[in-house]
Amino acid sequence: MARRKKIYEGKAKILYEGPEPGTIVQYFKDDATAFNAQKKDVIEGKGVLNNRLSEFFMTGLNNVGVPTHFIKRLNMREQLVRAVEIIPLEIIVRNYAAGSLSKRLGIEEGTALPRPIVEYCYKDDKLGDPLVTEEHIAAFGWASQQDMDDILALALRVNDYLSGLMYGVGIKLVDFRIEIGRVYDGDYQRLIVADEISPDSCRLWDLETGQKLDKDVFRQDLGNLADAYTEVARRLGVMPKQSTHMAKPKLIN
Ligand code: 5GP
Repeated sequence: MARRKKIYEGKAKILYEGPEPGTIVQYFKDDATAFNAQKKDVIEGKGVLNNRLSEFFMTGLNNVGVPTHFIKRLNMREQLVRAVEIIPLEIIVRNYAAGSLSKRLGIEEGTALPRPIVEYCYKDDKLGDPLVTEEHIAAFGWASQQDMDDILALALRVNDYLSGLMYGVGIKLVDFRIEIGRVYDGDYQRLIVADEISPDSCRLWDLETGQKLDKDVFRQDLGNLADAYTEVARRLGVMPKQSTHMAKPKLIN
C-alpha cells in the first residue's frame, strides 16, 4: 500500500493528504507542549481524547449552523476534515480574565469580564504568537475587513455555543482559541472554523470548585492532564464506555 503523504507536522497534530481532493486527515498526537514548546511531555491518551472532544464540539457547531472543517472521525486518533487556507491568526475569546490577559493588564485571574473580549495573535511560533491589532491585520493583508467581520461573528457564535454547553455540565468556559480557514465553493469563498477545539485550546474551570480541567494542568503542574481531559469527556458524555481512563475516577465531583 502506498504511504500517504504528510503535509505538515505541528506540536500536537500531523496532517496527511486526504483520500479525496480538498480533504485532509488530521492525526492527534499524545505530545503536550507549553510555553512555545519549552516544556514538553507525552501524555498517554491525550490524542485520543482530543480527537473525540474536537469531533464532539465541531459536530455540535455544524449542527447549530456554525460551519467547521470537520467531516467525520476515521478512528481513535484521526479525523477527516476539509482542506482550508488557514488565516494566520489565533482568535482568542475571553469571558473571564486569565493567562496572558491577567498578566498584561494586571487583572486577577477569574475576574468576570464586562463582555466577551476577542483578541488576535499572529500565528508565528518563532515570535511566540504576538498579540496584534486589526490595524496590523489590515495593513499586512492577513485578512480583509469582510473577513474580520465574519471572524468576529464566528468567534462569538462559537463562544455562545461552547459556554452554554460547558455551563450545562458544570464547567466555566474561561477562554479559548480557534483558528479560521478559507474554503472555496465554486466562485464563492467563505470562512469556517478549522484546526481543533479541545481542552488544549480552552480554559475550563469547574463551576463550583474552580478546579482546572484544561492544559493549564500541564502548564502549571497541577496533576494528570489525561485525567482532567477524561473528566471533561465524561461530563459531556463523550466516550463514556471504552476509555481506559474511565478506570481512574479521581476527578469525579
Ligand atoms: P493566553 O493568551 O491567556 O495564553 O491563552 C488564551 C487561550 O487561548 C487559552 O485557552 C489558551 O489555551 C489558548 N491558546 C493560546 N495560544 C495557544 C496556542 O498556541 N495553542 C493552543 N492550543 N491554544 C492556545
